[in-house]
Amino acid sequence: LFLTFEGPEGAGKSTQLSRLTARLAQLGAPCTVTREPGGTPLGTRVREVLLDPALSIDPLPEFLLYSASRAQLVANVIRPALARGEVVVCDRYADSTLAYQGAGRALPEALLRQITHAATGGLSPHLTLLLDLDPALGLARAARRGQPDRLEQADLAFHARVRAGFLALAEAEPARFLVLDATHPEEALAEEIWAAVTPLLDR
Ligand code: C5P
Repeated sequence: LFLTFEGPEGAGKSTQLSRLTARLAQLGAPCTVTREPGGTPLGTRVREVLLDPALSIDPLPEFLLYSASRAQLVANVIRPALARGEVVVCDRYADSTLAYQGAGRALPEALLRQITHAATGGLSPHLTLLLDLDPALGLARAARRGQPDRLEQADLAFHARVRAGFLALAEAEPARFLVLDATHPEEALAEEIWAAVTPLLDR
């Protein structure tokens, strides 16, 4: 079973991901938890580059770096874990690319889809948990965490496009997405997520 979390900065993805994986662990379900960009030694190095506030990175090389991290992660972590029968929970995946580099940075969707397909071999999550949040709220929450990364410095209009991009993806594939209102209390969100995940656990 392959699950992904998506959403903007400050939506509580990491919190919900930890809650979900803790519950999976209680059930004794073997679980691999990973994230993008990152999750492999290469991906971790690529992540440092991508998030460096001192670097200016054009949209195309930015997209290719995310794709490099993703290709390594799918081949070395996600596919092997799925082959072992584990639940894989990934913090961001291909939808982030379509939202950030597509809706956000206006790279052509056909290019994004083609290279993303090459990077993932067409591997798509069974369920994507989209924590939806007004970007102004999300950025304020993220800012409270401290030093903004390169993307958190981007303007509100960019983050509004990203949000719309995520919602459009969810609308196009309603069977795969669960859209959650990230302003709901943490506990309530965790219950909604658990209710969506448990029926899938025999996959
Ligand atoms: O969620 P997390 O903090 O791991 O995301 C790292 C940063 O990378 C965020 O600022 C996110 O907006 C950005 N990102 C991106 N394009 C992606 C994936 C993440 O701009 N495809």
